[in-house]
Amino acid sequence: MSGATGRRWLKAPLAVLADEAGGGLVVEAGRIAELVPTGQSPAGPVDELVDMSRHVVVPGLINTHHHFYQTLTRAFPPALNRELFPWLTALYPVWARMAPEDLALGMRVALAELMLSGCTTTTDHHYVFPRGCAAGIDIEVAEARALGMRGVFTRGSMNLSQKDGGLPPDSVVQDEDEILADSERLLSTYHESGPLAQIQIALAPCSPFSVTRSLMAASADLARRHGARLHTHLAETRDEDAWCAETFGMRPLDYLDACGWLGPDVWLAHGIHFSDADMARLAKAGTAVTHCPCSNMIIHSGHCRVCELEAAGVTVGLGVDGSAAQDSSNLMQEVRQAFLLQRHHYGVSAVSHLDALRWATEGSAACIGREDLGRIAVGMAADLACFTLEDLRFSGHGDPIAALVNCGAHHADRVMIAGRWTVWDGAIPGLDLAALRLDHQAAARRVQALTQ
Ligand code: ZN
Repeated sequence: MSGATGRRWLKAPLAVLADEAGGGLVVEAGRIAELVPTGQSPAGPVDELVDMSRHVVVPGLINTHHHFYQTLTRAFPPALNRELFPWLTALYPVWARMAPEDLALGMRVALAELMLSGCTTTTDHHYVFPRGCAAGIDIEVAEARALGMRGVFTRGSMNLSQKDGGLPPDSVVQDEDEILADSERLLSTYHESGPLAQIQIALAPCSPFSVTRSLMAASADLARRHGARLHTHLAETRDEDAWCAETFGMRPLDYLDACGWLGPDVWLAHGIHFSDADMARLAKAGTAVTHCPCSNMIIHSGHCRVCELEAAGVTVGLGVDGSAAQDSSNLMQEVRQAFLLQRHHYGVSAVSHLDALRWATEGSAACIGREDLGRIAVGMAADLACFTLEDLRFSGHGDPIAALVNCGAHHADRVMIAGRWTVWDGAIPGLDLAALRLDHQAAARRVQALTQ
């Protein structure tokens, strides 16, 4: 940041998703310091002026569900064309063979891909800790810091293997004591609290069919002692409903409640198979849901009833889900897919492009409990996604914000996180994407070949 006061004026964008900011915004010390009305100049002096006349500026997108390591198993032949349970059983043995250097590459690719799509905050649900990869969360925190990404990294876990009636093989589970000790270590080492936190930790036992009730309850106690949040997969498939009925004698949300999890510090991935009564309970508890449209369609899990969830008072955010389920980590494309899927289901008067952008910004920020993210307003974090409309696909556009979603924006030209440009001219400064892609593809070939 230059100058004595370090105030930068991002001047007169082509369009901006904020009120009274046609003249741009002033960024200072990692926050939005001032909004500038159309045709006006900032109230105070500025040290640097950045011409934004080619850019559509929206709040940085926030990804609330992912599994970074799965970039190593995209379009994996044995998992193609399968629904969730057979898809998982095809992939667990592959993931069990990853080495730390594979993980680092998989995570770097996911982070870079997200950032280039306009994502400024991401979560990652990392729940596979193969032998030698106990430091999976440490690796992703280091990768996120290197790229300047803001993140909530969730210490996932699985301790219910096939021999105990669960879905995963013994090779990918850990025992409860080991999981809780590592969770405590990660919370104590990395978890930041308060506004503008860059790195946060949450606890995320994987799913009802891969974790014991004891670990669910102990994880909730531990997270709450540290003021950290809780995350898990829930109500994703009919198979999960049947499994819970047979194993626990109850539906997934009843099971979650029985584990002490229903609360305002919890967000759930998918939330597809909720009844109207379930939605009322979620709303009352303040528990949020992440919608993952591409994943839900590819593995045919069902339709997340986003409008009914919101009408019931449930917060809805957006997530790309793991890159083996939906094969991509592009959050801007996920915005478009959420718009298309929910528009298709509910109709033109119920869902607009602005709703889809809201799910990926304000909705996602609420999922992770962040009041300082998700909007362009004074005092909010200076996290921005800036797109040009210069590809052929945008030619002829009228409304620039609608064009982002309707015409299919997928590559940000500039991204700002915490007041720092992490993407400039469509590239991540200091990151050789061509070399990364070669290294990552080689790692993926190694990992996939090990089991083929
Ligand atoms: Zn997932």
